[in-house]
Amino acid sequence: MPDESVSPDGDKPPESLTSVAGVIVAAGSGERLGADRPKAMIEVAGRPLWRWAVDAMREGGCERIIVVTPPEWVAVVAAADPDAMVVPGGDSRQESVGLGLAALAAEPPQYVLVHDAARGLTPAAVVGRVVASVRDGNVAVTPVVPVADTIRQFSDDTSHLLDRHKLCAVQTPQGFVFDVLTRAHAKATAKGLVATDDVTLAERAGQPVTLVDGDALAFKITTRTDLALAQLLAGGD
Ligand code: C5P
Repeated sequence: MPDESVSPDGDKPPESLTSVAGVIVAAGSGERLGADRPKAMIEVAGRPLWRWAVDAMREGGCERIIVVTPPEWVAVVAAADPDAMVVPGGDSRQESVGLGLAALAAEPPQYVLVHDAARGLTPAAVVGRVVASVRDGNVAVTPVVPVADTIRQFSDDTSHLLDRHKLCAVQTPQGFVFDVLTRAHAKATAKGLVATDDVTLAERAGQPVTLVDGDALAFKITTRTDLALAQLLAGGD
């Protein structure tokens, strides 16, 4: 006789619990670009950077999208993408991520990816690799790329060479079991920990970090040179 406590799908959780949400942080000012609008609102080949990021996240496997924007841009972005939830960001990237996670709390997904809108040209394949890795059981995942430059570390008035073969540059989107990231953020807030990315917060909360291949196209658009490169690569003006 079949055991009635076992679902026909065996151990598989219900579909609603396997959902993947994407939080795109787009609330930075982008001061270093010297543009007339926040960086994520700048158009590259006819699409604002936040839109590039949303499109890649959907194509890569995110079923629900939260875009975190400067408060005065919430209505604009919400009107441009009625399928996304749009919420106002905070004073730091970490705070903006926290606000995006809070917006998901009412209906928590199983997994969440956090992505910088500033990495607008990130290929959907990178998103797909991160989604596959978290679905595979890894609780905190980041794409990385090798470091091309020779790098020195300085302290006070001296410096020394680092072995670049042991270094990598960290990109986004970073993927998590949703509860792992929300707990890591809560712990960071309670302890006053600050980090420039999210796997670092998960790591400080005692979680292992898994690396997957990133892509040179996922570079962060920070300077005017980066923006010019993005325009060229995307075929824009
Ligand atoms: O400033 P930086 O380029 O490092 O920001 C990385 C990402 O975090 C960007 O996509 C930016 O829009 C976002 N951010 C944010 N809220 C802030 C600061 C940065 O959403 N207060």
